[in-house]
Amino acid sequence: MSKIQSVRGMNDVVPATAPKWQFVEDTARALLESYGYGEIRPPVVEKTQLFARSIGDVTDIVEKEMYTFDDRNGESLTLRPECTASVVRAALQHTLLRNQTPRFWYTGPMFRYEKPQKGRYRQFHQIGAEAFGMPGPHIDAEIILLLARLWRALGLKNIELELNCLGTSAARAQYRARLVDYMQAHREQLDEDSLRRLASNPLRILDSKNPQLQPLIENTPRLLDHIDGECAEHFAGLTAILDQAGLAYRVNHRLVRGLDYYSRTVFEWTTDQLGAQGTVCGGGRYDGLVSQLGGPDTPGIGFSMGVERIIELREAQNQAVEEPRPDAYLVGIGDAADWALYPLAERIRDTVPGISLVVDAQGGSVKTKFKRADRSGASVALIAGERELADGTVAIKPLGEGKQQSINIEALKTTLERIKSQGSGHLDNTS
Ligand code: ATP
Ligand code: MG
Repeated sequence: MSKIQSVRGMNDVVPATAPKWQFVEDTARALLESYGYGEIRPPVVEKTQLFARSIGDVTDIVEKEMYTFDDRNGESLTLRPECTASVVRAALQHTLLRNQTPRFWYTGPMFRYEKPQKGRYRQFHQIGAEAFGMPGPHIDAEIILLLARLWRALGLKNIELELNCLGTSAARAQYRARLVDYMQAHREQLDEDSLRRLASNPLRILDSKNPQLQPLIENTPRLLDHIDGECAEHFAGLTAILDQAGLAYRVNHRLVRGLDYYSRTVFEWTTDQLGAQGTVCGGGRYDGLVSQLGGPDTPGIGFSMGVERIIELREAQNQAVEEPRPDAYLVGIGDAADWALYPLAERIRDTVPGISLVVDAQGGSVKTKFKRADRSGASVALIAGERELADGTVAIKPLGEGKQQSINIEALKTTLERIKSQGSGHLDNTS
């Protein structure tokens, strides 16, 4: 029978690669919590309506990328393609926005039916955050500075910040009309995708990756020249804080982002080390989204990063993560040792809290047992034979080089701590 494989574009994380994920997740979690963001975990499935109403009907995501299905009751459900809409929904459902300015972060899988390739998957993972109720540019700056700090904490270099300001929806509507006039005048240069967008979502033409369209796009009228005074002031406030903090950025007039709900500030962090999938993080302000989803008029801003792309970039920059190694590998010798091995292991765990101890759960010769101990990567083997069990001792042997010796289980804690801090060499000197 043929073996069943995972769904195309949906990948397993196996124990050998899990530490890379854990490092990124742990680093991001610690940093976000330290800035006052609390974790929120919405379900992976939502009513389809939620995404249609927030992301926008004529966006790529809603038009062609969602995993939508009817459940057994005939209700249309969707595997979340992103998490902002879910966070807003949850915040409203639990009245977390009333007279408060909460900050949330999340992580988890997202689903989009895209063409799988390096850096682009059908199940991928995001870490993101959202902050509500703060209309000024300070929170925009805080989020951007937090991200710059996160890249440093992850050991990442060569990530550039691009910024733009989308203005209000009224200003965007005005600009849209000008853009359509301009694109109509150059209609013969547009590709099929852009012609479709010209009718449905003309701003997205600016986002086109088609190299042939680039000269045309370069010369389009600029959105930033059409925004109102208040938005311009907001943007100037943001760039002033970034300037003061010494953070470099580039104003990219073509940055429009793929989701409809953005207003004012939008940003992306990009790298040239990941080929075509070079955007590692995107975000922006969405002052209209909460009310669009039926809540009180509440400003919001957030970002989301692609965990796979972050890990791939860390690889490209040779940022290794140490694989976790157990402290000790427990081997039983002789018949009596076998039955007593698990109670002994529990006693060791009681005596040395936090010890990472792997028990050799298979039979075989002493030689094969030690081979397995070596392969485990543990710093020491703990050996229990009949004599040790009777004495309440255990033999300890540094893996690699070093002599075996017996110690009391009570003394194990200090011995292991010494080995951890000084290496196994000193073991020869202990009695
Ligand atoms: P792209 O232009 O690359 O399609 P996007 O604008 O659709 O990205 P967002 O919706 O802003 O992406 O998602 C935020 C981040 O999530 C992206 O910057 C990227 O790092 C990551 N991401 C988005 N789609 C995928 C995917 N299919 N596979 C892996 N990562 C993804
Ligand atoms: Mg996309």
